[in-house]
Amino acid sequence: MSSSLRLALFGPPGAGKGTQAQLLKEQLDVAHISSGDLFRFHVQQRTELGRVAAEYMNQGLLIPDTVSVGIILDKVMELGAEAGFILDGFPRTPEQAHILTETLAEKSRGLDKVLFISVPEEELVRRLGGRFICRQCQAPHTLSEAGADASSPCRQCGGELYQRDDDRAEAVQARIEVYHRQTAPVLDIYREQGLLAEIPGVGEIADINRLARAALELPTGD
Ligand code: ADP
Ligand code: ZN
Repeated sequence: MSSSLRLALFGPPGAGKGTQAQLLKEQLDVAHISSGDLFRFHVQQRTELGRVAAEYMNQGLLIPDTVSVGIILDKVMELGAEAGFILDGFPRTPEQAHILTETLAEKSRGLDKVLFISVPEEELVRRLGGRFICRQCQAPHTLSEAGADASSPCRQCGGELYQRDDDRAEAVQARIEVYHRQTAPVLDIYREQGLLAEIPGVGEIADINRLARAALELPTGD
């Protein structure tokens, strides 16, 4: 049965939000709304939005709210009034957090939990430089891990892997700076609201997933 949990995943670029979102999506049977995946879809489809988005994404900068917020909130509003969901990559600024709160007020209830996946900076830089994404299912893979190379197929669906333009070294540093300056302040908002749970994002994917489920008070036995 699908859960009604309304969850936002939070953390620096490379924290493993996408990986944990895919696992939690299956476990909770809820929609997964990834702002990054949404914009990359527009870039691939060569839409006007994609053309504008790519200019910012490739430099590691946030896409301006006037361009980004509407299309993400549309996805949220398409869901049923009682539906649970996982937001991944949104909200990314205090302003986005406020708009989300206002929008969800029209939809029976707001977020139930914000899960902060924390990872030390050296580890983020190492991961993003070795990260490749599946063209088909968007699952992220870190290729510095034993036995993998860029020509390996996706471990989830067999699809082809590619490196995101913004995982190249120049953009990685910019993204980490943007995270500290524009995104990290969002943590205080949700801490004050009592919604924040924090887990370490270093270790085995399955172990981090167990920590995530424990933090969300979901059954962890498997
Ligand atoms: P990561 O968390 O690994 O940096 P994402 O896939 O979440 O990657 O985001 C990639 C890029 O998409 C960001 O660097 C930014 O340019 C853009 N983006 C994603 N979410 C947002 C958002 N909520 N607001 C503005 N820009 C965003
Ligand atoms: Zn795949």
